[in-house]
Amino acid sequence: MDVSGLPPARRILIMTAHPDDADIWVGGTSARWVDDGHDVHSVFFTRGDKGHGDPAMTPQRVATLREAEQRAAAAILGVPRLTFLDFADGELAWSGPGLAETATRLIRQERPDTVVTHDPYTGAPGYREPQLHPDHRAVGLAVVEACYFRVPGPLYYPEHRAAGLEPHRLREILLIMSEHVDHVVDIATTFERKVQAVRAHASQFGHRADLEGFLRGLAARAGGGPGVPLAEGFKRLVLS
Ligand SMILES: [Zn+2]
Repeated sequence: MDVSGLPPARRILIMTAHPDDADIWVGGTSARWVDDGHDVHSVFFTRGDKGHGDPAMTPQRVATLREAEQRAAAAILGVPRLTFLDFADGELAWSGPGLAETATRLIRQERPDTVVTHDPYTGAPGYREPQLHPDHRAVGLAVVEACYFRVPGPLYYPEHRAAGLEPHRLREILLIMSEHVDHVVDIATTFERKVQAVRAHASQFGHRADLEGFLRGLAARAGGGPGVPLAEGFKRLVLS
């Protein structure tokens, strides 16, 4: 178990499926990165357009609402750069080769030191709801495979090179929602901001009476092994 203040990252690209994923699982760490002057860019493959229980809503209205909530949350954490892609919520696992190409292109554009994404390898005996969402596993698989094989491989997508996007080798991947946590970040100094950021996703958490208690429990479980009271936990893959 590696417990550190922070990984030595400079350019961080967070690639998640829906608005709110990043704030729940890496929000406290993101705020620390921002506070320390690192460049943090968060990419959302969907606008979460199916994430509403009211059948009178439309996917378009939900998408507009959730993008606004995400922008408010990012402002609380200080994350300055957000990109919303137009993949359909719930359909990423069946979106075809465009998902891998998009992930590769974004990483070649941004040239990050660290990529944060979903752990696609849930493993036994996980089966927790966040890990079962097909969008999470689809984004995680596309991004992890892109980092290892597609982004550094010059024969993948030669049209990228023609457009000035060179192959790139990044330093590490941090996986969220993982059953195999081996890297823990202390978020005591940013936990309150994380709570406010998650609260900004009112369409998702407005019904939850004790949101802070829920997040405190999540943070305690993440740090439980190495004895960090408020933490976020990741599986860390080192590439170079
Ligand atoms: Zn999600």
